[in-house]
Parts: sequence; structure tokens; C-alpha cells
Amino acid sequence: MDDSERSGGQSSQPALRRWECACGDRPVLFATYDDRGEIRIKFRDRFFFVQGRVRAICPRCGAEHVLDLRARDAGPVKAPGG
Ligand SMILES: [Zn+2]
Repeated sequence: MDDSERSGGQSSQPALRRWECACGDRPVLFATYDDRGEIRIKFRDRFFFVQGRVRAICPRCGAEHVLDLRARDAGPVKAPGG
């Protein structure tokens, strides 16, 4: 049996999603995150990898945004007092 090696199979690449504020014609991008719950924040020439909950202030409209990936398994979360 010469079972050929199947190496380098990176087919299960998680889909990257955008976390942004749609306050203007062009949305302000805060960070990107994937289905595994890893948030990637780009700041200048480096990336920060965060897991869990992140808060951000939109530089354009000043609104506070919260990205909480800990509760993604519990369905859509409704923020109190939106
Ligand atoms: Zn905004």
C-alpha cells in the first residue's frame, strides 16, 4: 500500500470577519476576527491577537463598540440599553 502523503492540507482556514463601525460612507475598520474567536487588531506596523472581549472607540463618530466573542456560542446577544 503506497498511501500518498497528504501533507500541508490547510483547507480548514477559518473565515475572516470584519469588525467595523458603519457610521460613514466608508466603514471604519477596528479589527478582524475569525470563527475560532481570535481577534486581530492592526496597530501601525504590528498585529495584536486577542481572545474574548475587546472595546473600541470609533475615531470618526466616537461611539463605543464592544466585540465579545465569548458569548458567540450562546446565540445572538442583545446589549442592554442599546
Ligand atoms: Zn463610527
